[in-house]
Amino acid sequence: MSDIIQRLRTIRRGVMFVIEAPSGTGKTTVIKKLLSQDSNLKFSVSVTTRAKREGEVDGVDYFYVTDEQYDKFVAEDAFYEKVDSQYGSRYGTLRSEVDSFINVGQDVVFDMDWVGLRQMKEKAPDDVVSIYLLPPSIKELRRRLEGRQTDSQEIINKRMSMLAEKMKHWVEYDYVVICDNPDQAVDTIQQIFSAERIKRVRQMAGLMEFTQKLMDEAKNG
Ligand code: 5GP
Repeated sequence: MSDIIQRLRTIRRGVMFVIEAPSGTGKTTVIKKLLSQDSNLKFSVSVTTRAKREGEVDGVDYFYVTDEQYDKFVAEDAFYEKVDSQYGSRYGTLRSEVDSFINVGQDVVFDMDWVGLRQMKEKAPDDVVSIYLLPPSIKELRRRLEGRQTDSQEIINKRMSMLAEKMKHWVEYDYVVICDNPDQAVDTIQQIFSAERIKRVRQMAGLMEFTQKLMDEAKNG
């Protein structure tokens, strides 16, 4: 393969993959599998003002900051998107963190809801690709939530009651994948990743160089 075609395949802009799903669909499992199978895919570590939970690691699960530090990020317009949770903690996605990957052709996966997605699409419309995972049925979703044994029946009932309200945002996503089993969902998402990575907008730098060379050659016979 000529050097220029090789370059074309390696210099491209990374993609921001936003994945969302109703709680219990298997989003965390799917994201972990995608990350473990794809060394070019990075997880976007968010900033949060909430306290670190047991087992969490600063810089891996979140960047834990004080309210003052968070306010400073807001004043500096350092976030791609930010959200206040109903429990009082605040979350945000740092531009610097994401851009350091995207600018060198690495893709980033985000675990965020439609509120964050809307802001991301506004700030980076050409870079964001969104995927909504759906459970195969509500019965199966409840079975999965109960099987997790992490939430009380009261919390499960609360999640179920909020489901329809959250799910109506599926139409805002580029792709909808039914998560019957996580491995199948991962395969489908990898096909989405492959197609999105070779889109013209992500390959502009390489394509400009390559098409210029072809046109020069055409002119010179
Ligand atoms: P937790 O505090 O349990 O880790 O997360 C609470 C919620 O905040 C989850 O639904 C998670 O997806 C969401 N979240 C975490 N980081 C961010 C972020 O940077 N932006 C947005 N919009 N949501 C986030």
